[in-house]
Amino acid sequence: MSGTTSRSKAATGPAATPRNDSGAPIVRFDGVSKTYDGRTDVVRALDLALAPGEFLTLLGPSGSGKTTTLMMLAGFEEPTRGSIWIEGRRIDHVPPHKRGIGMVFQNYALFPHMTVAENLAFPLQMHGVPRDRVPARVRRALEMVRLPDLGGRRPAQLSGGQQQRVAVARALVYEPRIVLMDEPLGALDKQLREQMQLEIKHLHESLGLTVVYVTHDQSEALTMSDRIAVFHHGIVQQLATPAELYERPANAFVASFIGESNRLDGTIDARDAAACRVRLPDGSMLQATPVGDLAAGAAVVVSVRPESIRFSGANGGDGTANRRDARVVETIYLGDHAKVRVALDGGATFVVKVATREAAGLARDDGVALAWDAAACLAVPPESR
Ligand code: ADP
Ligand code: MG
Repeated sequence: MSGTTSRSKAATGPAATPRNDSGAPIVRFDGVSKTYDGRTDVVRALDLALAPGEFLTLLGPSGSGKTTTLMMLAGFEEPTRGSIWIEGRRIDHVPPHKRGIGMVFQNYALFPHMTVAENLAFPLQMHGVPRDRVPARVRRALEMVRLPDLGGRRPAQLSGGQQQRVAVARALVYEPRIVLMDEPLGALDKQLREQMQLEIKHLHESLGLTVVYVTHDQSEALTMSDRIAVFHHGIVQQLATPAELYERPANAFVASFIGESNRLDGTIDARDAAACRVRLPDGSMLQATPVGDLAAGAAVVVSVRPESIRFSGANGGDGTANRRDARVVETIYLGDHAKVRVALDGGATFVVKVATREAAGLARDDGVALAWDAAACLAVPPESR
């Protein structure tokens, strides 16, 4: 496919061009804003650059601007301000079918009256691919999604998972370098969704595709992506790798949206480069790690992951920076681990993730001592608005 061609082109070395091909973005949003009603920007001053071959996911709650962003890249919506570039060419006014982009939507939108093969041939005919080349390309696309024998069926004769594979094949049949997918697995059950996540990921790798993927499902985003742009209120709250998002969330929204986290509001009381002390409303202090440039006096959210908290018990955790007494609210058995919901003195509720056996002896209203390190206690700014 053409995606692989671009990789070999990038590898031709200094003789080819002085410009480093692998360093140039394949897709770039430059200050892109979008309003539908002329009053509210649903996408706000978006800057985004994708490397060739990258798998980028737009993750965020419903209404955060993900689909609008994708539609502007595809050419079905126009930016209100700013510009969009593909391979160094400004494409704001290039019609959708001339952008070299394949698309997969949540509602597969296969033509019900056509066979699978006819559904796949359709975009090729639209693009003027010579008639005699069509069957081979249709066959190849069906093999890619491991449905080589189903070309003669109609969509209604396929399972949901098979229909979704056909939709993926249809996006790939024209051999685009860039593929956009908008919640493509939303209609599938959990097991099939997880299987398809890996299949799409493998297609991305083997074909060298650049993928922009939209989902509101954080575990899907973590599984599939090279990088994730976390959207909220039309603003990218953070653009980073899955591990960075989980371990160093840039603000309170990211900390709560990616994985589970316990939260306390406070104020920076003092800080140096690597550590800070946070004052809580009751006057007590926590030892924390500041993320970003937060000065003394700044309002912060303290975020602690459930797996970072220990029950310190009688013997211990001496030297652990943060300790609090709490009461058990409930224990939730989850097979390989358990979650214990506890109420801290002062009112906040925390979730603590522990080994199943540690939770076994706990009953409602039991007193427990919690301990957590400063390194696992992040002080982050409130979300960007
Ligand atoms: P997401 O895909 O993250 O759920 P969308 O991009 O679809 O978010 O929507 C962002 C905001 O723009 C929402 O408030 C939505 O109601 C609004 N919106 C989306 N499409 C249109 C449209 N065609 N006309 C008017 N408002 C729209
Ligand atoms: Mg959407």
